[in-house]
Amino acid sequence: MNRFSWYEAKSVEDALKNANTTLSEELYSPSNEAAFFKSGGIDVLDFLKEGLISPKTIVNVRDIPGMDKIEHEHNEGMTIGANVTLAEIEHHPDVAINFPALQMAVAHAATPQLRNMSTIAGNLAQRTRCWYFRSVDHQCFRKNGDRCFARHSETGQNEGHAIINNGSCVSVHASSIATALLALKASVVIQGGDMKKKVVSIEDFFVSPMQDISRENILGKKDLITEIKVPAPSANTKSFYIKQVARESYDWSLADVAVVAEMKGNTCVDITIALGAAAPTPIRSYEAEKILKGEQLNDMSITKAAEKAMEVARPLSKNGYKIPLFKSIIVRALSELI
Ligand SMILES: Cc1cc2nc3c(=O)[nH]c(=O)nc-3n(C[C@H](O)[C@H](O)[C@H](O)COP(=O)(O)OP(=O)(O)OC[C@H]3O[C@@H](n4cnc5c(N)ncnc54)[C@H](O)[C@@H]3O)c2cc1C
Repeated sequence: MNRFSWYEAKSVEDALKNANTTLSEELYSPSNEAAFFKSGGIDVLDFLKEGLISPKTIVNVRDIPGMDKIEHEHNEGMTIGANVTLAEIEHHPDVAINFPALQMAVAHAATPQLRNMSTIAGNLAQRTRCWYFRSVDHQCFRKNGDRCFARHSETGQNEGHAIINNGSCVSVHASSIATALLALKASVVIQGGDMKKKVVSIEDFFVSPMQDISRENILGKKDLITEIKVPAPSANTKSFYIKQVARESYDWSLADVAVVAEMKGNTCVDITIALGAAAPTPIRSYEAEKILKGEQLNDMSITKAAEKAMEVARPLSKNGYKIPLFKSIIVRALSELI
């Protein structure tokens, strides 16, 4: 690990003034002057320890006053400060009551110790856990290299990688919480260097490798996430979340699904179905949603929707198992709504 200086940001403005790059940009084209944000520090520290980054300055945004609150208005929804920890979300009573899918997603992310440290902004802005991307010996597309090591049909260790939209980089996004936030139609509030705020839907926050291989989200060098907004659910809304991992104790997702539906009896008035670890970004299965909107939820319609969700899947050499796995957890999550 290199020696670096530490800047303790006192306000959003102060943080923005002192940062000059993003961790993504630093990985793609390293500079000697890099200064970027750190909140919980879990992901930033990993990159430092692995020797993948050598920043000049770390700008600590973790203790900026006012960014650690959860506010809930029944008609408006919930505002989660960027520095709220995963543990605080997990244990907040209004989250469990109003947004069960979010509570379940957070409670299944990482370990209790990590959830005490990790912040919601850091979770959304963390980089992929593809082992080639995380290895100093592999210069992949995402690090300005000339190939994707994972997609090689014989040597690629692609068990955990994408089965959908896997045309260039085949990594999947590491945030399983984003799956629930996507299904809940949450948005991210970003403050830029000009101090103007923009509100971006979670769907538009993530950037696919086809759009820009150097980044996984839209954050620019002078962009700080200040809040996450989760709109109030309409009456009779139910939600559920399931994450499948390789190890029972803790792990990143092999597959996860969040469903949020407005129900009238067993009829589905409206629904969102979000999939994590299926594609390089969390995605919605609009096709599966279409099958269920306005229909009765029953074994037949649910199975049809799960089949439809996986029609677009194109597995790699070692991750074909993900198709039946996704079908199975989609069926289970939808069945929970009735
Ligand atoms: C063993 C292990 C298991 C895990 N399992 C899961 C899991 O199952 N599901 C899951 O979702 N996560 C998982 N994680 C991720 C973890 O929970 C953290 O959320 C994540 O590593 C980063 O959070 P952080 O607050 O420490 O961010 P940091 O490391 O501080 O920052 C991460 C990135 O966000 C940027 N950043 C931080 N704050 C801001 C801000 N306000 N505005 C703009 N950019 C910002 C930083 O510059 C950096 O690029 C796991 C981590 C580990 C180590």
